[in-house]
Amino acid sequence: MAATTYSLCRANYCGYYREGAADAEERCPSCRTRLVSKCPSCGEAVTSNAARNCAKCGAVLKDR
Ligand SMILES: [Zn+2]
Ligand SMILES: [Zn+2]
Repeated sequence: MAATTYSLCRANYCGYYREGAADAEERCPSCRTRLVSKCPSCGEAVTSNAARNCAKCGAVLKDR
């Protein structure tokens, strides 16, 4: 059973997310910040809609 991948807005102040992986150019429809759907450090998929850090390596997913 595969875990759901989420795409999160990288802006800390913005709570936007959607299910499914985003492509590299996709931006938040609310604030135009890039979306992140996998860890920039290790490539682990984002599987929580409330994640701020990578579940595997701890790298920061959201901007400060
Ligand atoms: Zn946003
Ligand atoms: Zn990671």
